[in-house]
Amino acid sequence: MSKPFYITTTLPYVNAKPHIGHAVEFIRADSIARWKKLCGFDVFFNTGTDEHGLKIYQKAEQAHMDPQAYVDKAAAEFKELLPMLGVSPDANFIRTTDPHHIKAAQEFWRIVDKNGYIYKKNYSVKYCVGCELEKTESELVDGKCPLHPLQDLELINEENYFFKFSAFQKPLLDLYEKGGPILGKSKLPFVIPESRQKEIRAFVERGLEDFSISRLKSKMPWGIAVPGDESQVMYVWFDALVNYVSAVGWPDDSFKKWCVDTGGMVQYCGKDNLRQQSAMWQAMLLAAGLPSSQNIIINGFVTADGGVKMSKSLGNTIDPLTLVEEFGTDAMRYYCLRELSPFEDSPCTPERFKDAYNANLANGLGNLVSRVMKMAETNGVKALNGEVKLPDAYETGLSEYNLKKSMDAIWDLIAESDKLIQTKQPFRLMKSNIPERTEGRACIETLLGNIYMIGIALKPFMPDTSKAILDCVDNNNMPAAPLFLRK
Ligand SMILES: [Zn+2]
Repeated sequence: MSKPFYITTTLPYVNAKPHIGHAVEFIRADSIARWKKLCGFDVFFNTGTDEHGLKIYQKAEQAHMDPQAYVDKAAAEFKELLPMLGVSPDANFIRTTDPHHIKAAQEFWRIVDKNGYIYKKNYSVKYCVGCELEKTESELVDGKCPLHPLQDLELINEENYFFKFSAFQKPLLDLYEKGGPILGKSKLPFVIPESRQKEIRAFVERGLEDFSISRLKSKMPWGIAVPGDESQVMYVWFDALVNYVSAVGWPDDSFKKWCVDTGGMVQYCGKDNLRQQSAMWQAMLLAAGLPSSQNIIINGFVTADGGVKMSKSLGNTIDPLTLVEEFGTDAMRYYCLRELSPFEDSPCTPERFKDAYNANLANGLGNLVSRVMKMAETNGVKALNGEVKLPDAYETGLSEYNLKKSMDAIWDLIAESDKLIQTKQPFRLMKSNIPERTEGRACIETLLGNIYMIGIALKPFMPDTSKAILDCVDNNNMPAAPLFLRK
């Protein structure tokens, strides 16, 4: 029986429109899901939307909409984006307003409460609605959140429920020490990349403070009711984070298939989610007696030129849909997978996108496929059948979640093939005497083999392009139109 493999993105909070950072996460997680499927795993790929909270409630009020109608509309925008990005149609789309999720969040609360990790206390704190995080004085600049200097901090002074996060310092450090699954001779860290694992370990080592997990319903009406206390609703953590298990059926027994005897349980997120997913959520899982995640993969941010933060006020944001409409789905996937750093911040501008498209897709890949297929078609040279051994760097890149490494291995093969055409000039050899023709034919066979391998290797990353290339090789003809038109 095939091993199960579970991968999930972070659920975007629906208070803003989808941006390129969401696209990066969807595309990378989808590529891993497709790859695991090709390797024979039984894959569950989860994404969706996070829909409760004060910010949503306020936005809906501003728009004179009922909160449910507001989130229905916002969730639809995210859902519609998925096929545009080439995300597998079988991806699961969970919404934190789904009845099953609401039931699961309440059950999760009950269990953690029964296990003794929830208590009530009076509390007073400064709170940034922008970050959805409490802020201590030392984190503030001029009395404001440095990430949201235009927003006033909310002063919260009420009786809330708290989660005993402080009880989990040692178990969390043990979890980081244990690391992720074994890969050949080496072991993956629990948090990838290693630098982020160091960061979270240092955070946990400094000591953990219990955090508030509910709000007064009178002040925050848009949330899941706390079991047994009608005056309180759950605050984001015991609501949204629980989706990582409710998506795969928890608390029903069916979830065990994905979380207990598993071939992998992986969460993708941005660097702003490091603390939530690799510390808070892991402590909550331990408190509920549920298995820990196996890997947390942390993406950097997509920035404007020079590492400048993208923001509406600076007018430097990029709408992923505009890029897809102009350049196509696979071009978008290419950019997110190869031109952006897998783990660090990196820039995307319309100019950079176009330059990369022309150099590496129109000229690089597209041109190579046209040239080789033309020579093969004109001279009646067919591909030799044989096993395809994908480059080692391609496979290790995928197992280490370094998808750029795998993409680079494909583009190395493209460069190598271009060089072979240039040095051997097989089209010339085919017009010469018999010995040279034999050599030319062998060279075209090699090139066809390379193209075929490129087509196979692109399957998880650029599925439509992969299919177009493999069809050309199978039918021994040129693509009907260039794979990527020059822009
Ligand atoms: Zn903030």
